[in-house]
Order: sequence, then structure tokens, then C-alpha cells
Amino acid sequence: MSNIIYPTTNLKATETLTIERGDGAYVYDNEGNQYLEGLAGLWCTSLGYNNRELIDTAAEQMGKLSYSHMFGGKTHQVGMDLADKLTAMVPVENAKVFFGNSGSDANDSHVKMLRYYFNAIGKPEKFKIIARERSYHGVTVASACLTGLPPNHTNFDLPFDALGILRTDAPHYFRGALPGESEAQFVDRIVNNLEQLILKEGADTIAAFIAEPITGASGVIVPPAGYYEKVQAVLNKYDILFWADEVITGFGRTGNDFGCTTMGIEKPAMMTLAKQLSSAYMPISAAVIRGDMYEAMIEPSTKVGVFGHGYTYSGHPVAAAVSLKTLEIYERDNIFGHAAKVGEYMQKRLGEFRDHPLVGEVRGAGMIGAVEMVSDKNTGAGFDGGAVGTFAMQACQNHGMITRAVAGNSLAFCPPLIVTEAQIDEMVEKLAKALDDTLDFVT
Ligand code: PLP
Repeated sequence: MSNIIYPTTNLKATETLTIERGDGAYVYDNEGNQYLEGLAGLWCTSLGYNNRELIDTAAEQMGKLSYSHMFGGKTHQVGMDLADKLTAMVPVENAKVFFGNSGSDANDSHVKMLRYYFNAIGKPEKFKIIARERSYHGVTVASACLTGLPPNHTNFDLPFDALGILRTDAPHYFRGALPGESEAQFVDRIVNNLEQLILKEGADTIAAFIAEPITGASGVIVPPAGYYEKVQAVLNKYDILFWADEVITGFGRTGNDFGCTTMGIEKPAMMTLAKQLSSAYMPISAAVIRGDMYEAMIEPSTKVGVFGHGYTYSGHPVAAAVSLKTLEIYERDNIFGHAAKVGEYMQKRLGEFRDHPLVGEVRGAGMIGAVEMVSDKNTGAGFDGGAVGTFAMQACQNHGMITRAVAGNSLAFCPPLIVTEAQIDEMVEKLAKALDDTLDFVT
């Protein structure tokens, strides 16, 4: 056994699979077995593996300038080009971008920039952040506090009270609705809960509301129609900023450029981007904020002497070059259009599992989806613990497909955006076998 402390792993049962190489939508283990990558790594390898253009771009950039930092306003062309390209793409007004290395650190940067901004405009008491139950925003200290999943808090003594994280409902009708409640009634009830929370805490104390437009790690929750429209109306009423965590949903994943577009979220004040920004060829993230928030931070930073936040690898030139090339390929090859078309096909094919005796709900949009397994199809009652999800995930692997069990007993699907309809058929075929194996396991 190696000396690695494995991330997000049961430390008693480590080392499940040794992956050696990847090509297109497939990865191969150290015994040469092929697996269809049903989750694009961790929802990130949009252009698949062994993309020659991205490899050459990285190698060229390493040869030209392998590293340069951005402290003190030192810069490089490829970093500036990426910032221009990115800020022109996002729906954030007059966007400015802070570069980091991961989705988690970008969310931490946002937490800090929110404080900086509200201090700058003379509202230091407006620092609390509303995050949802069952959300996933990362695992660094501040982002883990935003995350609403117990394993990311338990034994870590999180969340810290000082961060002022408030919790509101997950918009999951299947799991959250009261008996007899319609989708519209469910939306009205949870949006009313949000408003009551704001009134109880005081709008003057709340800076922002953070949401993944469609969640990932918490089980691919697609909120019902009308949810975001009503949430935005409440936030606007109380002058609370909308912060879109697009770490998974960014860049074509949901059938449009951003999850905000798919879900009708207009002009978020802040956006978090990572993963598909570089197709995961290099670690990079972007914390995007509205131009006026940046403007407000200028004066106080001048007083201190610097804006005292920055990472060694902020704007890393190789990561920037690879990201720029990734965005160029998205545009040139109409990857978002392809993903929308094949994504529709994927939703249709996954939908066929609604009739499976083990399946309680199939949900998703574009090229992200989940199949939730239940113990009683009529009542929707779930299985206790996560053993069934773990078994089904292993069964998929035995049939040559990688996926992940999320939220206990849902299997998530999020293949590279480049997959073909034939590969979706392959995915569905393997899933059918794995679900049948799982049915044998539970009966
Ligand atoms: N935000 C969302 C929505 C995510 O899904 C993730 C990771 O899966 C993160 C933030 C954290 O990103 P990272 O793992 O790069 O720190």
C-alpha cells in the first residue's frame, strides 16, 4: 500500500484501481482493461484524453515560459488573453477575474472578496452567505463551510460560526416534497423559507446566496421550473448578490455555455469556474466578480498597499495557455452545440431507466445526469447508507465503465463533452448490466 492519504476515500479501504493512460473518452488500467469514462474524471475532462493540441500547447508554453507569477502586477500575454476571453464569455457585468488553482480556492477567494467589497462600501456587517443543504462547493476551509454535505464537516469541526454561513433548502422535489405537494407548491414553500431566513437574520447582514445552477456531487439536482426566477426575485428585493458556482456546469455541460443560461439565472454578480476551463489538462480556476465590486476594492487596497490575496500559481502561464486553447477548441469545433445535441440523446436514453424496478428518479440536463436507486419504487423510499450505490458503481466498473455514486445511492453520468451517440449507447448498455447486477444484490 502506498503512503498516499487518498482524497475523499475511506482510509481503511484504499487503492481500488490503478489508471495508467487515457485516450478520447476512455481510460485504461495497469492491466490494459478499457473503461468508458462516464464521469469525465471528476466532471472535468471535457475534451477527453490525449488531445494533441492541448498537449502541444502545454509543451510549447513550458518551453517559452514555464512559470511567472502575477504579484505586483507582473503579467504575461497569455494570462491577459485568457482573462479577456473569459470575461467576454460570462454573463457577469463588466467582469473581472481572479485566477487560482482549484474550484475550492476560487470559492475561498470569493468569500474573501465579498468581505473586502462590503467593507469597502461601508457595510462590514453584510458578510453572511446563504448556501443550500446538500450543496458542494469544495473542501478548503471556507469552501467546506459553504458545502452542505456532512462528510465534509464531520470530524473537521466545520462549519466555523465566524464565517456566517446560513443554510436553506436543497431544491430537490423528489426528496424534499411534502406528501401531496405539487412542484409549484414545493418551489413556493422553499422560496418562502428562503425569504423567512433573510427576514430573521436581517437582509443587511447577508452578502450573497451561492448555488450550483445544477448540482453535481450532491446528486445532480435540477431544480423545478420557476425556482430560480423566484429565488432571484427574493434576492433582488433584499439586495443580496447571486453567486453562481459553475465549477461543474460551466462550459457546455448543461446544453448551453453556462448553467446560468440553462436555468434562467440572469446576470449573477459572481461566478466560480474551474474544471472544464482547461479540460482538466492543467489545474486552474477563476473567481469572477462584477466590475463595480472590483472598482470598490481599489481604494482600500491602495490604503493597505496591496490587495493582500494571491497564490503562487495565480495565472500560471501553462495553465492559462492550455485554458485559452481549450476555449478556442470549444468555439472552433462547436463543442457546446455537439454537447447539447448528444446531451439530449443522453437524457432520452437515461430516461429509459425510469421503468427499471430499482430506479426511483432519473434527472439531468444536457450532458449531466443521475439515476437514483430506491428500495421501494412505489413510495420512493431510499436505501439506508451508501452500500447499494457503492455496489452499483463497482458493477459499472466491472462492465468497463467508470462512474461515481453520489448522494448515497445515485449513479452520476457526466462523460467528456466529445462523446458520440454510439458511446452513449455503450454507456447505457453497461449501466443496464450494472443495474441488473445490483438488483440481484439487493433482492
Ligand atoms: N464547486 C463545485 C460545484 C464542485 O463540483 C467542486 C468540485 O467538484 C468544487 C467547487 C471544488 O473544486 P475543486 O475540487 O477543484 O477544489
